[in-house]
Amino acid sequence: MYSISVPDDKHKYHVAELAKMFLPEDHFCIYVGQPDAELVIGAGGDYNDSKRRAYAFFKKITGKDLDWGILTGVRPGKLYNELKAKGDDPEKVLKERYYVSDEKIRLLRRVSESQARVRRSPDPKAIGLYLGIPFCPTRCQYCSFTSNQISKEAATAYLKALFTEMDAVRGLMTRKGQTAESIYIGGGTPTSLDPEDLKAFLDKVRDLFVDENTVEFTVEGGRPETITAEKLQIIKDAGAGRISINPQSMKQRTLDLIGRRHTPEQIREAFALAKDAQIPVVNADLITGLPEEEPEDFRSSLAEVIGLGPANITVHTLAVKKASRMIEEDPGVARRQADNVRQMLADADRMLTEAGYEPYYMYRQKHMAGNFENVGWCLPGTESLYNIRIMEEDQTIAAMGAGAISKVYFPEENRLERVPNVSNYQIYIERIDEMIARKEAGL
Ligand code: SF4
Repeated sequence: MYSISVPDDKHKYHVAELAKMFLPEDHFCIYVGQPDAELVIGAGGDYNDSKRRAYAFFKKITGKDLDWGILTGVRPGKLYNELKAKGDDPEKVLKERYYVSDEKIRLLRRVSESQARVRRSPDPKAIGLYLGIPFCPTRCQYCSFTSNQISKEAATAYLKALFTEMDAVRGLMTRKGQTAESIYIGGGTPTSLDPEDLKAFLDKVRDLFVDENTVEFTVEGGRPETITAEKLQIIKDAGAGRISINPQSMKQRTLDLIGRRHTPEQIREAFALAKDAQIPVVNADLITGLPEEEPEDFRSSLAEVIGLGPANITVHTLAVKKASRMIEEDPGVARRQADNVRQMLADADRMLTEAGYEPYYMYRQKHMAGNFENVGWCLPGTESLYNIRIMEEDQTIAAMGAGAISKVYFPEENRLERVPNVSNYQIYIERIDEMIARKEAGL
């Protein structure tokens, strides 16, 4: 057990976040004002100074360097852009003050260059909309989202409440003169709704929110087994130009292990259906670090997915969070897979760059294998504005549905305020009036 002493609780929090990236949580202890600790960090510096001292200490103990250095936050891309906007040299600062590796600085540079190409409305009245459908066919082992097994009865009751919230948000937007710049339907798996419900829902989204200022309308399909020609036509008729079909892996053994209950063949069929339906932009998610996967498994999945021709490919790193089943059944998987993930991400960078894709947004999460990152790649010109806005935190997002968290942007202070809905969908239905009242007060 290694011991470190820091001057106060704020330093303790930040140093502990860094320590977790080097060692299991039961291998270190951080104290406030403990002169007998192995490393004693005194007052006088900011918490980044403390993290640098701790970094040197842990590096000596473990012999490890971290790709993201002392950066523990989830949005390094935002930091890069902020440093640039201030007139600093972001790459020098990230290397010398945050110890970020050359590879990750190169990634941030490419992401920032991609984002600079995307046109955004500077109009503060142009907001983003998120609508969540918290149902899936089954629950994935690693899932930590608000996701429930779909049934007709549950979907009907849920949509009734959601429609009430949508009407209320429309009223709020009209009163404030706001328009929807982008609309994102997420989940869960929105395409787990049956065709009748999906049509009623998407037609209502279109009728309430889509106008001449709307530049983007995305429906996350996610699970390939829920995609049919009929649902794709409904999505298209509602005016959505972007969908996701998420393989995660093209290996049957892995799909079985993570509880996906679909086959690689169903993934291929879903892509063929999307091609026939002429959906303009299809995104495919893959995950690095899945149980039992080796770098060659990931390379093989990625090569096949590139061959399926999606305009966007998002490469996630496995994150095993407390709300997932995986944390109970295989809590060590993320740490075990860290070296594989490093190789997989390097392979993804090389293969996607060769295939003409550019990285255009990225973020990190807690509990990720090797503390790496998720990266959204796209063929130039197919970037998702919604994804960029979410990462840059520079726009109000009105979020509807169970578990949805609205974010109100205050440009003068460059800060966000959160207005959450409850995450349990039954409680959401019961307390829909309260959810609407929260929005009336907060948005
Ligand atoms: S498809 Fe997504 S939301 Fe649904 S169970 Fe799997 S990880 Fe969770």
